Amino acid sequence: MTQDNRKPSGALDKPDANGWHWQTNILHADTQLPAGFAAMPVPVARASTVIFPDLAAMRSLDWKNDSQWRYGLHATPTSMELMRRLAALEGGKHCLLFPSGLGAISNVYFGLIQSGDDVLIPDNAYSPNREHGDWLQASFGITVRYYDPLIGDGIGALIQPNTKLIWLEAPGSVTMEVPDIPAIARVARERGVLTAIDNTYSAGIAFRPFDHGVDISVQALTKYQSGGSDVLMGSVVTIDDDVHHRLKQARMRMGVGVSVDDCSLLLRSLPNMQLRFEAHDRAAMTLATWLKTRPEIVAVLHPAFEDCPGYQNFRRDFTGAGGLFSVVFDERYSQAQIDAFIEALRLFKIGFSWGGAHSLVVPYRVPSMRTAMPWPHKGALVRFYIGLEDVRDLQADIETSLSAHLVG
Ligand SMILES: *Cc1c(COP(=O)(O)O)cnc(C)c1O
Repeated sequence: MTQDNRKPSGALDKPDANGWHWQTNILHADTQLPAGFAAMPVPVARASTVIFPDLAAMRSLDWKNDSQWRYGLHATPTSMELMRRLAALEGGKHCLLFPSGLGAISNVYFGLIQSGDDVLIPDNAYSPNREHGDWLQASFGITVRYYDPLIGDGIGALIQPNTKLIWLEAPGSVTMEVPDIPAIARVARERGVLTAIDNTYSAGIAFRPFDHGVDISVQALTKYQSGGSDVLMGSVVTIDDDVHHRLKQARMRMGVGVSVDDCSLLLRSLPNMQLRFEAHDRAAMTLATWLKTRPEIVAVLHPAFEDCPGYQNFRRDFTGAGGLFSVVFDERYSQAQIDAFIEALRLFKIGFSWGGAHSLVVPYRVPSMRTAMPWPHKGALVRFYIGLEDVRDLQADIETSLSAHLVG
């Protein structure tokens, strides 16, 4: 043993009234929010370890009991409050959080599907969901089949005895077809098959999935719920206890959690989400209506327009549209011309995702993204996300670039 020759540290060496030294005290001050202190923000409760008052409390842990605190990975009061508010938004009972929207999608598969099962995915689904399904098919012994998003109750003919899950997306976030969700959900429920919707497009504001018979709702909170292009997160909201527990167990087994700092950013954005959504919706409608009159464009794919496939479903089931729509250019333009048009835009940034304050633009090659249904258009598809810039400036930006690059 070596002798400790360091000098005593003076003031820090004097025990306090507890008999503890400063170094111990700083660790065991047991800070609580003082009674009488009140403020609007949800406090940020960071934790890995959660402390049990006694061993009996630790031993009585039941993983199905959502009101017990267990470990920071699973929940702290901050993430719990976010889950509560998100479940309420969509009219669900339970909510689980994931590090991304895609992480939420992947948990639905791992929680509910096992080898030998069959999954149906709409042909217009978010591409990484398709890739996930294809990967499970190639490596984990499930089958994945793609269906016409406008199939309606015709989905019944595709259901096999081993079909366990039907994905829905409404509308498809690139090509904008709106399925008949109540019809598909009804047939699925009659046949004992779970339905999961990727409800990111509506943010849970413009479409309430559980009112239409859907079992599971996935959100990429990365989009409107964040609203700042600065948080990645996903949620799965459910109404059935058993489905929730299966998803929760998969989440626990995979060791998935979210940062409470990210949760607090979302809690800050949620109060103004509805106002933002409506502003995006108005501006997008203005620009989509104007683009319909442009000779360069043969189709505007916006579900609130009568010629959008599934428009009747949209009118019946949705209360708004948000900031996203696509256009199809006349086939006489080369891809190089379309690319030049996109790159000349000054206010529309080139980038994936949406839901923030900034306008975005992405070209898509749709025929390579689908397998079940032929794509009817020949010209290039470009998707716009309309941000919160002044809509007159956005229109001028598009107009300038159109007339510079899409002549003839
Ligand atoms: C963005 C998006 C996702 C995935 O969200 P991330 O948080 O980026 O993983 C899933 N579905 C749809 C429809 C999306 O637009």
